Amino acid sequence: MRYSGLRVIAQGLTGNKGWHPVWRNPDPRPEYDIIIIGGGGHGLATAHYLAKEHGLRNIAVLEKGYLGGGNVGRNTTIVRANYNLPGNSEFYSHSLKLWEGLEQDLNYNVMHSQRGIINLFHSDGQRDYAIRRANSMINQGDDAIILDPDGVRKMVPIIDFENVRFPVYGGLYHPRGGTARHDAVAWGFARAADSRGVDLIQNCEVTGIDIENGRVTGVQTSRGAIRAKKVGIVVAGRSSQVAAMASMRLPIESHVLQAFVTEGLKPIIDTVVTFGMGHFYISQSDKGGLVFGGDLDFYASYAARGNLPTAEHVVEAAMTLMPAIGKARMLRSWGGIMDMSPDGSPVIDRTHIEGLYLNCGWCYGGFKAVPGSGYAFAHLLAQDRPHESAARFRLDRFRTGAGLMDEEGKGSQHNLH
Ligand SMILES: Cc1cc2nc3c(=O)[nH]c(=O)nc-3n(C[C@H](O)[C@H](O)[C@H](O)COP(=O)(O)OP(=O)(O)OC[C@H]3O[C@@H](n4cnc5c(N)ncnc54)[C@H](O)[C@@H]3O)c2cc1C
Repeated sequence: MRYSGLRVIAQGLTGNKGWHPVWRNPDPRPEYDIIIIGGGGHGLATAHYLAKEHGLRNIAVLEKGYLGGGNVGRNTTIVRANYNLPGNSEFYSHSLKLWEGLEQDLNYNVMHSQRGIINLFHSDGQRDYAIRRANSMINQGDDAIILDPDGVRKMVPIIDFENVRFPVYGGLYHPRGGTARHDAVAWGFARAADSRGVDLIQNCEVTGIDIENGRVTGVQTSRGAIRAKKVGIVVAGRSSQVAAMASMRLPIESHVLQAFVTEGLKPIIDTVVTFGMGHFYISQSDKGGLVFGGDLDFYASYAARGNLPTAEHVVEAAMTLMPAIGKARMLRSWGGIMDMSPDGSPVIDRTHIEGLYLNCGWCYGGFKAVPGSGYAFAHLLAQDRPHESAARFRLDRFRTGAGLMDEEGKGSQHNLH
């Protein structure tokens, strides 16, 4: 069923009785050409592009819970292409271009809103880095503007510009950045993949990976064994656990990241603002809630909920930047499990096991990567060679030390990226 304005009107006039579930609920078949483990944003996007770009149909996505129940439905929805280093720069640039045509491609309203992002800076050193990053973005063909304090004030008057500890020196403005509705992205990709014949199998946990003579032959699941010629692992925070099923030890740590939402308010922030020095960022959802977050909780964990010291830290940072926020009531908070890599950059690569592929290490920036990652991973799975946008996302860089992409310049400490 194609969605259109006319269809919405026609359905409205006839009691909305003609809508159908947007994907099937099939039982697993005994064998597929390709199995994707993980029905998050990256897994669903991979399935969509495998079917659309490579004409492959005999594919299953195996999801242990429900589609959209992982990080893809838990993030703070920021979409951007403002990276500095070669490797990341071209990948996120490609991903943002895919975002810009995504709603037409999926025939689904993912509420992609290019409302712009401002990264504040508060010292001469931070300003120098922002200018360098802006130049990298422009060289990559993306957009970047350096704002002075008055430029920031015009766009975000709610900021406390008199703060003595964190005076605002200006901001790096990325107009094409913005937000999208996270779970709609999962649903849109799911619907598109299903409509091309991909089996999306929920409540199907992968419990083992079958390997014979160095080659993958299928998976064991809570719904029985399923054979496959190729298997892609795309399970974000669970990457180390699932890779361990193939006796692989990944250079990934899982950490909790929290998000917070206030009650709905009239529009007061119409862009995304990041306050890196205070570990805080914020935007306002279309429903009016202020959506914000900060840094990781300070230890590795598989619990998809956070702890009060981090919540307190984030709220303190919010009050420092925008004291008026203290009047808003916080409605809820939650956590997600982040697959943190040692250099803060991802992996899209083959493994040493023939037919077994890996997509992980998205840290807390994997939502904006969803289309780009799905596109590149589909290319790798279908053609057995990396897509040019993701050619540097090699797993062996952590073994050899060559080609690391330490965007934050923080060294090999997972939780600092
Ligand atoms: C609070 C928070 C804020 C964030 N903010 C942003 C942001 O603003 N911008 C941004 O770009 N990124 C952000 N991120 C990061 C982003 O959400 C993730 O990097 C990205 O969603 C991870 O990829 P995914 O969508 O495929 O993961 P997921 O949705 O977690 O998908 C992985 C799936 O694998 C399934 N799975 C796991 N094990 C198995 C198994 N054994 N068998 C079958 N299925 C399995 C899980 O159930 C899950 O559904 C944020 C994350 C959090 C938690």
